[in-house]
Amino acid sequence: MFSAGVSSAAAAGTVPGGPSTNGEMNLSSLVTYEDMIKALKDIEQTSQGKVEVFTLDEYGKSEQGRSFYAAKVGTGPVKVWIQAQIHGDEKLTTRAVLDLLKTFGSSGGKDIKAMLNNLTIYAVPMYNPDGSMMNTRTTMLYDNGEPKRNDSGKPLTVDLNRDWATAGFKAKESLAFYKYWADVKPDYAVDLHHQGFKTVYGTNESTSMSLGVSLAPDGPTLPNVKDYNDVTRQMQVYVYDALKQYGYTHIDRYQVGDGDKRYEIDIKGGVVSAMMLGLNYNNLNPTHHSNPAIFFETKGNTREGGLGQKSNGYLTKQNYLGLKALLEGISSGKIAQVNPDRWGDIPAYPLAGYQTDSGIVPAGY
Ligand SMILES: [Zn+2]
Repeated sequence: MFSAGVSSAAAAGTVPGGPSTNGEMNLSSLVTYEDMIKALKDIEQTSQGKVEVFTLDEYGKSEQGRSFYAAKVGTGPVKVWIQAQIHGDEKLTTRAVLDLLKTFGSSGGKDIKAMLNNLTIYAVPMYNPDGSMMNTRTTMLYDNGEPKRNDSGKPLTVDLNRDWATAGFKAKESLAFYKYWADVKPDYAVDLHHQGFKTVYGTNESTSMSLGVSLAPDGPTLPNVKDYNDVTRQMQVYVYDALKQYGYTHIDRYQVGDGDKRYEIDIKGGVVSAMMLGLNYNNLNPTHHSNPAIFFETKGNTREGGLGQKSNGYLTKQNYLGLKALLEGISSGKIAQVNPDRWGDIPAYPLAGYQTDSGIVPAGY
């Protein structure tokens, strides 16, 4: 989730990673770091050269010294960045990215071929491997193999999704992925998360996924950023329509808060926010490259529950289909034909305001 206020220390506990794959592609929904590496290598091998798998060691390693893995597939001119599990306890997202890579590596279908001709996909299935191993939202800062501690001896943790900021880049993860992003210069991005529980406005139905953008459409920031106020809404509407057609009918817009106080987020340090703003940290992005980006928030997480053998399959497939639809819409150009104002048709609570880095900005500011 994007919202603040979750204590990472309390969330540390047993890692509910599924059984290892033992050489099979029958992955548990909760993919461990080791599972991911094995799956990526299998996908690369069976893809016969279509999917390229590599570490980002040249850009850096995690605080605890783990390699970051990425995969590239497609030969097209339009570059799409997909990232999952920047929050280490938001786990079904990784499996969805692996399933997607598997499809792109093994399917000879016409629709897949068309997408691979138009797009090049850069996928990061597990942005926060240390957090995934610890089953925490955040990561922990390390020094010489030991956790760094504050004056009272408490380990220092960082929310990686607040760390692409001028005063940020506290964690090695952030700098490594930022450098890689600045090299790739994607045209679009999507970021996969989990949220807690909410119901679709005006119903008793549990939301299965929320669609969001971390600089709120029509909010304080985004309308002044290129044409992203339209593009990000078009992307969300396109995914919403596609998922509805697949029978996923409990999708809404991402908002935080509860009761009658619901806010859209407008935060600048989020990774996808910094992408849209064209952050140039340490002159690593001197052209101020930027790209529109949206995120998916799947229901349930390993802290609050809601995950289980049955729902995991449903929710993973929802992520997978949403991703595939987004790629198809970008590839075909159909997203550009969507009326962005239809974003207002995606269910949402009456807006109380915007949650910004410096506090709440009321609606109609
Ligand atoms: Zn998250």
